[in-house]
Amino acid sequence: MSYRATLIPGDGIGPEVVAAAVRVLSAAGVDFQWETEAAGAAAIPEHGTALPDRVLESIRRNGVALKGPTETPVGTGHRSVNVELRKRLDLYANLRPVQTLPGVKSRYDGVDLIVVRENTEDLYSGLEHVVVPGVVESIKIITEKASTRIARYAFEYARTHGRKRITAVHKANIMKLSDGLFLDCCRAVAKDHPELTYDEMIVDNTCMQLVLDPTRFDVLLLENLYGDIVSDLCAGFIGGLGLAPGANIGEHGAVFEAVHGSAPDIAGRNLANPIAIILSGAMLLDHLGEHAAADHVRDAVHGVLREGKKLTHDLGGKAGTSEIAEAIAAKL
Ligand code: ATP
Repeated sequence: MSYRATLIPGDGIGPEVVAAAVRVLSAAGVDFQWETEAAGAAAIPEHGTALPDRVLESIRRNGVALKGPTETPVGTGHRSVNVELRKRLDLYANLRPVQTLPGVKSRYDGVDLIVVRENTEDLYSGLEHVVVPGVVESIKIITEKASTRIARYAFEYARTHGRKRITAVHKANIMKLSDGLFLDCCRAVAKDHPELTYDEMIVDNTCMQLVLDPTRFDVLLLENLYGDIVSDLCAGFIGGLGLAPGANIGEHGAVFEAVHGSAPDIAGRNLANPIAIILSGAMLLDHLGEHAAADHVRDAVHGVLREGKKLTHDLGGKAGTSEIAEAIAAKL
């Protein structure tokens, strides 16, 4: 079977790691017809915008995309392509699995949790304005619709993936209305799933508990901003951003991308670790129902890490991005 899919190389290390993922996916024996589209800073010279309409049209047509990181200017400049893409395609669920990988030195063993992050609202609504000079207001939007939808997604995911416990993370002691509404929605959905354990934890305490013992957690269910911060924290448990995959899922499309950003400090030097996006590619295969190929890709990644002969510099090795891709492809 052949699949049409959108390919977004992105900025910084994006083109290098995306090429590595394409190499591995083709070695996995699943035939992809990639439709390559520019987004991010890379799209501005030709299209005058960081997110041309043709990118959205391509993803709507194909249903799936593999995406490299896109640069987001800090403080000024164009709005985040990631935020726009997730909103415009209504990719409401951001899924970030965090699993200990064989052979990778990290502070903890046996971490196996998944971060389920709401992807469309919260402080990411982009509603900011200057009230008077020196006073700025950023608006946090939490709705019953989006909170219920993400809670349903998390519980359904847990049920179908053998997960047992869902922890809703919040700060409802301070944001009583917004985070209070989020919790009300989670509780209502939890009532429909008596087979799963549901509990709640305040976000600051969650961070401390995670650092003390991340193996205690199973599924974390969070609003957008807490989800962003907590998932980077969790990436640190398993050896860093170079290893953390992700997916953005909606009713009509899905975009697979690593948790990490465009890493301009190492871009264009064949130094980036491609494993995060290769594992995102495995999630894409799962999404398409190609579970055997997805498992093969994960096994090949684990094999290379376990051997420890070919590692990128973030893991203490000297191998280049393309060398890692070849080593993984050779195991397929
Ligand atoms: P963004 O705002 O887009 O998230 P950022 O600069 O905050 O960008 P990253 O681009 O993810 O975050 O980079 C954070 C650090 O992690 C940098 O030092 C970068 O070199 C490193 N890093 C990120 N991704 C990788 C990777 N795939 N391989 C090796 N190092 C990486």
